[in-house]
Amino acid sequence: MSNFLPNALVKRLNEQEGFDSEAFNKVHEQGDKVTSIRINSLKQNTVSFRNTKPVPWCDKGYYLPDRPVFTLDPLYHAGCYYVQEASSMFVAHILRKVGLEDSAIRALDLCAAPGGKSTLLASYLGRESLLVCNEVIKSRTNVLVDNMVRWGTSNIVVTNSDPSTFSRLPGYFDLVLIDAPCSGSGMFRKAQETVDEWSLANVKLCSERQRRILRESISTLVRDGYLIYSTCSYSKEENEDILDWILTEYGFESVPIALDSNWGIEETRSTSHQAFGYRFYPHKVKGEGFFVAVLRKKEDQPTFSRKKNKFEKNGVPPHVVSEWVAQSSNFTSFMHGDHIHIFPKKYEEDLKWLQQVLYIKQAGTTIGKWTGRELLPSHDLACSVHIKTDLPAQEVTLDAALQFLRKESLNTGDFTGAKAGWCLVRYKKVNLGWVKVLPSRINNYYPKEVRITNL
Ligand code: SAM
Repeated sequence: MSNFLPNALVKRLNEQEGFDSEAFNKVHEQGDKVTSIRINSLKQNTVSFRNTKPVPWCDKGYYLPDRPVFTLDPLYHAGCYYVQEASSMFVAHILRKVGLEDSAIRALDLCAAPGGKSTLLASYLGRESLLVCNEVIKSRTNVLVDNMVRWGTSNIVVTNSDPSTFSRLPGYFDLVLIDAPCSGSGMFRKAQETVDEWSLANVKLCSERQRRILRESISTLVRDGYLIYSTCSYSKEENEDILDWILTEYGFESVPIALDSNWGIEETRSTSHQAFGYRFYPHKVKGEGFFVAVLRKKEDQPTFSRKKNKFEKNGVPPHVVSEWVAQSSNFTSFMHGDHIHIFPKKYEEDLKWLQQVLYIKQAGTTIGKWTGRELLPSHDLACSVHIKTDLPAQEVTLDAALQFLRKESLNTGDFTGAKAGWCLVRYKKVNLGWVKVLPSRINNYYPKEVRITNL
C-alpha cells in the first residue's frame, strides 16, 4: 500500500471491477508529472515546442517532454495555448461525438475558473455559439476574465453569479458543463494538499454540494440539451451516484460516448440506472484522475418570455469600430462607462436577457476607451482574434518581448521601423499588446495587473 494515499480511498476503489491498486499506488509513488497544452487554433496552428506528442482524444492537445517556464514564453501570455491537464481535454472528444463541434448554440460553463474548459469550449463550439462562463467565487473571476480575454474570442460573457441564479433563465442553454467542485483525489499526484485534505467526510460534503449545484441550476437547460458533468474525484459518491440521482430526480437519459480502447479510459456504469461514465486513472492514461459523463434532458422545460428589447442609440461613432475590428458588421457595439465593447450581433438580444439576471464581469471584447475624440485601444483588443490585421505593428525579439511583458521601458532601437502613434508589439507574428511610439521614446501600455513580476 502506498505510504501516502488515503487507505479508505484505495480500499473503496479496490471494490471496483478491474481496478489495479498496485499500478495505481505505483504511479502515485513515482510522482511523475505530465505536462500538456492545448493550442488556440484561432491564433496559431502549430505548436512552438519540440518533441511533443499528441493527446489522443483532443486534436489541439499536446504532451510536452518536460515543463518549460511558461511565464518566459510570450506566446503563453498572448493566449496561443492553455496549459491544461490532458484528461480534461476529453471534453473536446465529447463535443465532437454529440455533434456540437462548430455549432451555433448557447452554452454555459457553470463552474468555470480558471478557464481551462471555457477556453476549450470557446475553441470547439466555434464562432457562431454564445458561451457564458460563470464562477461563483468572486476572487476567482479575475483570472477567468484574464484567460478568456487572452483567448481572444468575442462570443463570451463572463459572470459571477450563484448557480441558483440560472434558474431564472429556464430552458435557455443548449449545453451546460458542470465541472463540479470536488474532493480532488484525481489531483493527488499534482498537489500534496489534496491528499492532506482528503477525507470520507469531505467526499460526502462535496457530493451534497454537487447535488445542490445541479438542483439549483438544472432548469436552465433546454429540452434535448446536453449536460456534461465532470469532477476530478475518484469517489463514486461524487460521480456515478450523482448520475443515478439526476436520472431518478429529473427527466434525463444517459449518453454513451464512443472510445478508442487504446486510450485506456475506463467506461463505467452507475448502480441503479446503468448510466455511462468515463474514468481516467493515471496508471492507465497519460493524465490525471478525472470523471466525466454526458446526459441529455428529455423532459419538457418551461422557458421564460423573451421580450424584444428596445435598443437605444449606443453613443459609439459608427466609424470607430470598423477602424479597429475586422468584419465589424458582425458585431454590435455598446458603451460601458467610457469603454467601447463589441459583441456578436446575433446575440444582442441575449445579452439583454442575461443582464437582467446575472452579474456580468465581461461581455464580448472591450476594444478601448473612448475619449470623445479618439479610441485609446485596449489590451483586450490586442489579444482579440477579431482585431484588424493591417494595424501598425512591430515584430520584436524575445528579449524585447519580455521587456514589454515586464512593463519595463523599451529601447527605441527595437521600434525603428514604427511610425509615431499606436503600435502593436508582435512576437512570432502574434500580438502581445500596445505601445505608443513617440519621437524620442516608446510608451509601454502593457497592463500592470498581468505583467511578469517575478522572473
Ligand atoms: N472548470 C474549471 C477549469 O477547467 O479550469 C475548473 C473548475 S473547479 C473543478 C470547480 C470550480 O467550482 C472552482 O472554480 C470553484 O471556485 C467553483 N465552486 C466552488 N464552490 C462552488 C459552488 N458552491 N457553486 C458553484 N461553483 C463552486
